[in-house]
Amino acid sequence: MNAAVARLAHAFHFAAVAHTPQRRKGARGEPYVNHVAEVAHLLAEATAGNDVDLVIAGLLHDVVEDTATTAADLAEIFGADVANLVAEVTDDKSLPKAERKRRQIESAPHISDRAKLLKIADKTSNLRSIAESPPEGWPLDRQQGYFDWARAVVEGCRGLNAALETAFDAALAKRP
Ligand code: ZN
Repeated sequence: MNAAVARLAHAFHFAAVAHTPQRRKGARGEPYVNHVAEVAHLLAEATAGNDVDLVIAGLLHDVVEDTATTAADLAEIFGADVANLVAEVTDDKSLPKAERKRRQIESAPHISDRAKLLKIADKTSNLRSIAESPPEGWPLDRQQGYFDWARAVVEGCRGLNAALETAFDAALAKRP
């Protein structure tokens, strides 16, 4: 058995179970796991399938922030590399939302190159979602504000992967 395939399948199942009660904010209310699957797919394509830990981190990137899973759980089950990648893109939820958003812009240029790719993939998926199925109750200016904020975060992550940046820029071009 190919160990990388087994770990990837495990991560996909783990993410699906962990995010079971969660839905995307959009009117379509897609299962949340659609988002992490999209992020993992973007990362797999951007790295030509050569960085399985990064793809696994893509699947798991929201479990610490949004579910009962801890960084220690991830380290134990999927290893330190995956846990560290997830930690690099996990917000401190004890902080107010505005402060967390400000910190994402500030910290983006200083995270690892692989975490930057994860950030770009995450924001690409979020922008696509908002453009295709805007969150209920989000007026136009809030949607536009999210696009502008995502652009500012990704500004600090550029210069590493042209394919991923192209995907992000295409999503950004659909700013409402
Ligand atoms: Zn995400």
